[in-house]
Amino acid sequence: MEDRTGWLKELIRDVYDFPKPGVTFKDITPLLSDPDAFAKTVGELAGAFNGEVVDKVLGIEARGFIVAAPVALALGAGFVPVRKAGKLPWQVHAESYQLEYGTDILEMHQDAIGPGERVLIVDDVLATGGTAAAVARMVDHMGADPVGFAFVLELAFLGGRAKLRDRDTFSLVTYE
Ligand code: AMP
Repeated sequence: MEDRTGWLKELIRDVYDFPKPGVTFKDITPLLSDPDAFAKTVGELAGAFNGEVVDKVLGIEARGFIVAAPVALALGAGFVPVRKAGKLPWQVHAESYQLEYGTDILEMHQDAIGPGERVLIVDDVLATGGTAAAVARMVDHMGADPVGFAFVLELAFLGGRAKLRDRDTFSLVTYE
């Protein structure tokens, strides 16, 4: 089958053994610095949810912010940052999640989303799915409705999509 995302894969750089030995980091900075590719990426992610009512787009710190903010504007939705613990100034809702070793915490302002709001969760990479699943739990606890997830790229061999269950999950580029 023809790979329609070859143009994009050329702008995603593999950095071996970063941030630690054995990890291949997917560096999207070449893509971000190409205005046509960046615009096309944002257009495709937003386009995948065009038919949906989306009130808020949540971006996950830090590279998720870069992609989520223009997707929010394209969908006519508000942008909400989901941050690492201790970074947000107002009252927060926190959610912890499992890492390979230990746990981490993500936070969102308590008034960032309201009950019944429809929320799209955006990040650069879907790897094991732990991060995105934690954000979806946070959205659930706040009484809002996670309509789906959008990623620039997915490391399918890590099986993260299964953690996101039946929610609509769109990735522009997939690495099998
Ligand atoms: P996970 O919770 O395993 O799905 O990891 C997703 C988060 O970690 C995202 O915020 C990504 O930005 C980051 N991440 C995980 N693996 C990679 C990778 N190979 N290259 C770049 N970022 C990654």
